[in-house]
Amino acid sequence: MKIGVLGGGQLGRMLALAGYPLGLRFRMFDPQPDAAAGQVAELVTGAYDDRAALERFADGLDVITYEFENVPAAALEYLAERAKVYPPPRALACSQDRLAEKTLFRTLDIPTAEFAPSDSLADLTRALDHVGLPAILKTRHHGYDGLGQVVIHTAADADAAFATLAGRPLIVEGRVPFDREVSVLAARGRTGETAVYPLVENRHERSVLIRSLAPAPHTTDDLRARAARKIERLLHALDYVGVLTLEMFEVQGRLWANELAARVHNSGHWSIDAGGTSQFENHLRAVAGWPLGDPQPRGSAAMLNLIGGVPPVTELLATRGVRVHLYGKEPRPGRKLGHVTVCGGDDEVAAALRVIEPLVAAARVLR
Ligand code: AMP
Repeated sequence: MKIGVLGGGQLGRMLALAGYPLGLRFRMFDPQPDAAAGQVAELVTGAYDDRAALERFADGLDVITYEFENVPAAALEYLAERAKVYPPPRALACSQDRLAEKTLFRTLDIPTAEFAPSDSLADLTRALDHVGLPAILKTRHHGYDGLGQVVIHTAADADAAFATLAGRPLIVEGRVPFDREVSVLAARGRTGETAVYPLVENRHERSVLIRSLAPAPHTTDDLRARAARKIERLLHALDYVGVLTLEMFEVQGRLWANELAARVHNSGHWSIDAGGTSQFENHLRAVAGWPLGDPQPRGSAAMLNLIGGVPPVTELLATRGVRVHLYGKEPRPGRKLGHVTVCGGDDEVAAALRVIEPLVAAARVLR
């Protein structure tokens, strides 16, 4: 079976690497000729609105999936006439619009911060009464890693915040006084079968993920079950096929949804080394129409992102149990260049982290 992947970044690369042992073949699509997945799979380059390039990409594919969240809806519609496309384009459209996403959460009784669309300064001023202060003004589309976001501390900040982002559709939300950030990933197959990964604790620096711990420490069965029920509700409502990610805030034992990713996710990378079945393999099994694999980890795992710089690989490998994944990308501040995973018993993971976290932090160059 040949699978097409829209987006040729590290997620596409790791999808291909997970699929080869299963006999799957791949073709990637990316505007950049040096896309990371192009080092391990056939790559078609072109703009997402280049019909001729999309046609070359689609030729002979059995299934098309995506790893890039800003694939234009028109490209997916065009491709859907040529091959099966999973996850459903509707799920991608929802994840591309913070307003649609939060509205869906509310429809499914999944708590979120208060929010309101704010396309004019008058809307914003009115909305601040409703969402409260501090608040965060965000672009509805194309925001990631904290880009396209401005914090509003007092009503007097509203004008300047609006001026920074004006001209694009905006949403304002209350700033959540969270205790920690967590995420849950799950796969759903074509027959409706699901596999839910354990809740993961995520630490961000300047809004960029730097560390995930799986399973999230200090988590009750009840919290885990509530996270699982939320993502199951989303999978069902979207008639989803593939891996879906739900990022949440934990606030005094409650879970508030922040955003959806209709794709494999950075907070699931630990599953390559520690999971029964990695998120990448389960995504492929789902879109191929195959049975899903066990998502449960075999122990505890920690994943550290290598951002903007990579410590000497030999120093990382000198700690037993450390697994290194490099994406073959040129270093640039803020760029995700790779990740490392450690897994095993809690004490083993903690001991390894004491050694490698300082190495990783010293090499990190954020934007
Ligand atoms: P996002 O692009 O929405 O995932 O935001 C990036 C990061 O900004 C999140 O991981 C949080 O650390 C922070 N953030 C976003 N929205 C909120 C919010 N409503 N309240 C508190 N922190 C937020």
